[in-house]
Amino acid sequence: MKKNFQTPIFFLLFITLLLQACGPGKYVRREFTYAKSVDTHSKKIDFQTKKLYRAGNIFADNRFDGARLNDFKQLNDSTFQVLITPENTPINPSPWYAFKIWSLRPDTIYLQLKYRHAKHRYWPKISHNRKDWAKIDHFIYNQDSTAIRFKLPVGKEAQWVAAQPVINSTDTKKWLDSLTARPFVSPVRVIGHSVKGKPLYMVKIGQGATGDKKIIVLLSRQHPPEVTGFTALKYFVNELVRNDTLTRAFYQKYEVWLFPLLNPDGVDLGHWRHNAAGIDLNRDWANYRQPEIDAVTKFIVNEAKKYHVQPVLGIDFHSTFRDVYYIFDDSFHSVLPGFCEVWTAGIDRIAAPFKTRKSPFGMAQPISKNWFYKQFKAEAITYEVGDDTPDNIIKLKARAAAVTMMDLLLRY
Ligand SMILES: [Zn+2]
Repeated sequence: MKKNFQTPIFFLLFITLLLQACGPGKYVRREFTYAKSVDTHSKKIDFQTKKLYRAGNIFADNRFDGARLNDFKQLNDSTFQVLITPENTPINPSPWYAFKIWSLRPDTIYLQLKYRHAKHRYWPKISHNRKDWAKIDHFIYNQDSTAIRFKLPVGKEAQWVAAQPVINSTDTKKWLDSLTARPFVSPVRVIGHSVKGKPLYMVKIGQGATGDKKIIVLLSRQHPPEVTGFTALKYFVNELVRNDTLTRAFYQKYEVWLFPLLNPDGVDLGHWRHNAAGIDLNRDWANYRQPEIDAVTKFIVNEAKKYHVQPVLGIDFHSTFRDVYYIFDDSFHSVLPGFCEVWTAGIDRIAAPFKTRKSPFGMAQPISKNWFYKQFKAEAITYEVGDDTPDNIIKLKARAAAVTMMDLLLRY
């Protein structure tokens, strides 16, 4: 037997068992197969023409990052039409629009938003400074909901009209820079670049060396119009960068890796859903064909390997028609068994009476949540915020989520 043991076959078996025992899998980025696989090879997109439009006395402008307006024309004496088309099709029905509008003289016009390949979704908002936004009072649909019409007072001063508050890549970088002045936040790092060459940023939030910590990963804005999800992320992070008893205890054991904007091209190009290669990034977490997902997954795996640390929880902030948490049901065996169920119940208790729907979301699709589980056996959640969830409710829930997460993780 002793002699046999030295033969190659036994040696290989021994090495295989040893490797399995050490669990090397999580430090090598693997490709995964899914029941609902998605072709994420790059596709052609239509770039909108950036220009100043004029119809009669009215000007419409899409020459800013985050804008979307594909045509502008006058329909009759008082009605003007904005055409909104997607970057490519097929596409999720999330018709994003954003543009500036003004007039040579004070007037009240009717503005029609006309959509191609989708029905109306986002309640129009108006801003005079691109920071403070108000919903318009009311609008009317056309018969099949592919257009809406509303009254708009216009004047010489430009105002922004948009599907949600416009927060582009420059705004996001400014926020990230401001965060680095807060406790526990490390300098901003560039982890890669988008299709169009925009930097992909991250910061670490923690104290001391990464090496002896467990890792929480925060992601946002794979899908450009999902601003309410990003707003939740900001409120969530605000709780993580306070210097108090809870955070100090938390950062003894844990470190947070924050990736606030995974699709900077899509956001700045005013896309409905995709990156600049026409792909839904939250379907590319199996084969990493797009540079944004290739960069973030490589970074997480390599950094985990470098410090020999375990990502235990991935939180991906999104928006949809209403608040919902997509979590794993109890058939999954993560490194924090059942954490998301206990955690979300805890959020509901603090945010009462605003209970949030929980939906077990199977393992069928190559999305980030499933990647965290497959790659690291980590817990993961898709944290979905409603398109119309009021800001105070987003804040209440996001703060409850952050505080409860820290508190619970300290007890796991
Ligand atoms: Zn989404």
